[in-house]
Amino acid sequence: MNISVMGTGYVGIVTGTCLAETGNNVKCIDLDPKKVEMINSGKSPIYEPDLEELLKKNLGSRLEATLDADPAIRESEITFICVGTPSSEDGSTDLKYIESAAGKIGEVLAQKEGKHIVVVKSTVPPGTSEKVAEILKSKGAKVFGVAMNPEFLREGKAVEDFMAPDRVVLGAEEKWVHEKLEELYSFTDAPKLETNLRTAEMIKYASNSLLAAKISFANEIGNICKELGIDVYDVMQGVGMDARLSPSFLNAGIGFGGSCFPKDVNSLIHTAKVRGVEPKLLEAVMKVNEDQPLKLVELAKNKLGSLSGKKIAVLGLAFKPDTDDMREAPSLRIVPALVKEGAIVKAYDPEAEENAKPLLGDGPEYPSSAKEAAADAEIVFILTEWKEFEDESLYSGKQVFDGRKLLKRKSGEKYEGVCW
Ligand code: NAD
Repeated sequence: MNISVMGTGYVGIVTGTCLAETGNNVKCIDLDPKKVEMINSGKSPIYEPDLEELLKKNLGSRLEATLDADPAIRESEITFICVGTPSSEDGSTDLKYIESAAGKIGEVLAQKEGKHIVVVKSTVPPGTSEKVAEILKSKGAKVFGVAMNPEFLREGKAVEDFMAPDRVVLGAEEKWVHEKLEELYSFTDAPKLETNLRTAEMIKYASNSLLAAKISFANEIGNICKELGIDVYDVMQGVGMDARLSPSFLNAGIGFGGSCFPKDVNSLIHTAKVRGVEPKLLEAVMKVNEDQPLKLVELAKNKLGSLSGKKIAVLGLAFKPDTDDMREAPSLRIVPALVKEGAIVKAYDPEAEENAKPLLGDGPEYPSSAKEAAADAEIVFILTEWKEFEDESLYSGKQVFDGRKLLKRKSGEKYEGVCW
């Protein structure tokens, strides 16, 4: 099929590249000339395992990036909307990129004969895809269908998740739209759940909220365990063996970050409140998460007294390993707090340094390896569980504060886990 994809961020570039890999002709559209140029020169605009290889493989035959939305949309039969849906000040979702993408598609479809499907893949509050349909109609689009196909990929495993998902949720109001998308996703045996538009939108929020709740639950239990001298990882191993639960997302630590969980839980809280529903549990999930990162700093202060003048290596800045994404990363709270305490901080991340620098400024130094960061440090903070930080020699003789249970077997005077 001929596909166009609007937005070449994490979701758009993965969607476009993987749909090309599964045999479709894909045009990826973005407003950012730098991203378009990068893609067309075979470079991925984001770091994601396996993505660049797939991109290079399909470029020039089935995959192309463009700034020119009109022909890309006109010559395709399905357009995916993968633009950002950031949080507004009040926690609600800012839909300006969705509205502008829908407006552009509507203008092109007004001039186009034949059926066209617009698939909203961005995470949007229930009711938004219906609004997209209204915008398309108001611009004069003729024969079109709207679908909502939430994306569940995990950053760091995005290609793997897109190619072999747990499930594919297809929200639409018309049978022909469901049928066409079933065909597009026929490359995977994953169960396909057909719903209406609003249900598909809500499934994404409910999924992310439950995953976030599991993390905050594990962190709260971990905070209690810490006081009792119990290792919360042993506890959660026992909890996760219950056949009614899954053991994933029960890893206690310094809290969740990223572009999705905080934004999506806050959006659902906003949606609930606007409708007079008090989201007690969701608010508690966010509250636990807000308090969690600075617990590691408190722990260090309680153990060592003042951190002023102390040489601290921070290993890991990205919100999780195998990504360069700094959005809502716990390091954004922890590093400035250490600098404010007067510590001399050297911060290292294998992929996220470039994204981290504008956010963290020149408070910390940015050495070019974990070894260099740790070399003359008295204290090491582990904030992201990158595989390369498992090298025990980085920590010898140093006081370690581990926010991720990276050093599985480490214990004793010189080691403290945030909740174990
Ligand atoms: P992003 O901010 O990384 O990328 C969005 C891209 O859209 C940018 O490159 C921007 O230039 C482009 N854009 C904006 N308006 C455009 C327009 N009119 N035409 C063409 N391009 C346009 O965003 P992301 O992380 O890929 O997230 C996109 C959506 O997917 C969000 O709703 C997010 O919540 C959801 N989502 C993200 C993830 C994730 O892991 N990042 C996972 C699942 C769902």
